[in-house]
Amino acid sequence: MRRLLLLLALPVSVTAQPPARAAATTAAPAPPTAIRAIREADLRRDLFAMASPAMRGREGGTLDEMKASIWVAEQYARIGLEPAGDDGTWFQWFDITRTRVAVSASRASIGGRMLTIFGDIIPLGVAPVEATGPVLWLADPADTTIDLRGRIVATLLRAPAPGSIRQYSYPGASRYAAAAVAGALARLTRRGAAAVLLVADQVVDDDFAALAVQRARGDYDVDHATPRAAGGSDRVAPVPGLGVGPTPAYMVRAAMAATLQQAPEVALSVRLERFDVPSVNVIGRLRGTDPVLREEYVLYSSHQDANGVRLLVPGDSVLAGADDNASVSVAQFAAARAFVAQRPKRSVLFVHHGAEERGLLGSRYHSAHPVVPLAQIVTVLNGDMIGRNNPDTAALLGVQPPHRVSAELVTMALQANAQTGRFVVDTLWDRPTHPEGWYFRSDHLPYARLGIPALMYTTNLHDDYHTAGDLPERIDYAKLTRMAQWMYLTGWYVANAPKRPAVDAGFKLER
Ligand SMILES: [Zn+2]
Repeated sequence: MRRLLLLLALPVSVTAQPPARAAATTAAPAPPTAIRAIREADLRRDLFAMASPAMRGREGGTLDEMKASIWVAEQYARIGLEPAGDDGTWFQWFDITRTRVAVSASRASIGGRMLTIFGDIIPLGVAPVEATGPVLWLADPADTTIDLRGRIVATLLRAPAPGSIRQYSYPGASRYAAAAVAGALARLTRRGAAAVLLVADQVVDDDFAALAVQRARGDYDVDHATPRAAGGSDRVAPVPGLGVGPTPAYMVRAAMAATLQQAPEVALSVRLERFDVPSVNVIGRLRGTDPVLREEYVLYSSHQDANGVRLLVPGDSVLAGADDNASVSVAQFAAARAFVAQRPKRSVLFVHHGAEERGLLGSRYHSAHPVVPLAQIVTVLNGDMIGRNNPDTAALLGVQPPHRVSAELVTMALQANAQTGRFVVDTLWDRPTHPEGWYFRSDHLPYARLGIPALMYTTNLHDDYHTAGDLPERIDYAKLTRMAQWMYLTGWYVANAPKRPAVDAGFKLER
């Protein structure tokens, strides 16, 4: 009852609302009967399959992602969509460019003792270095009177300021390490040192192997794609050269402190390697019924990849990605079943973007090489993690400036919520001030950057995010069903609306 009062009582437009809530104003048509094709049992069956250990975490740019992509295509073939990828297939191929430290071609020694790269010493960035000389030990890295130019400096890693540790995103120790390293480098880079050696504190030393696995992955990018950041280039940046960019930094074990304080001779020769690996977007289409409007498309967006197989933690090393993002992928299968059962006027594209976890690579590529002209894509409904947290609340990103592309689309989405999930819609995560910057971390972003009305549905982050704990057993399937119905009905409203959602005048993202 309380929730119903809340839904009806709340004022009209998003901005006028008390903070962090949004609700529909006018009632919209009841859902079509086809919505019954969205069934909890199907969602559960498909999710357990997609997030099963056999899928090995579906890592972008690997055979596991390929296997998962073929499985996704098989679902759509069974549901009755038509393939919309390259050359009449389900697949749009693109290359991922990886740049990382070349372990076999790199050398590091301290006091004449050879170190193993990513074993004893962790390169913290993807940067080459050629440096030798006696270490300069810094008891106080904040002492700017010491001339560091051209020196290899070493210092103890200091605990990060509590406020600088991100609330979510990755296990606690790696969030701690990321904040501590950022704090240390903020004090030391731009002082002309040739290299920085950070001596791990107890927290980072205990988590040394996990940090090594994470940093060994290197950088990922995709060429000829919508830029990562506003004003960025659509080309992959050249391989970083010697002495270009921030000072190269390395993490060594806590036990190295005593040795480094003796100012031993250090030799660092770190080389990089770059190579391409294939990835793929999976794309299915359902044609609309109206001879004119069927040339316009509603695009549903998910990502089929997850984070693969990582470090063994309590008996499991597969990052199954049940919530992130199998939850949305299976919701899209369910929506496709409903649309096949009752076709709308406009056409619908169902896209599973590859390598999202590697930097939105698939969506950056497809938005730059769309399978239908970009101008005909009237809306992008993206979902990321829709199966967890409080059963009564959900978040919708892109509902308020500066993230709102289209107020008309927001209205349709809130009306659809009132007819389906009836969630209390949290808009806090949609604020530019929110520390997680969640709006900038999923596949709707490249499309929104190009001015296409776009929304992101999510039930937000949780402690299992990007860990082996993101398992199908922990999904709230009743909630997932309501989220799937909500996403479906929003698309149904757009696909049958007399006119396409208008883009707000003055829409501009803050970064
Ligand atoms: Zn995701």
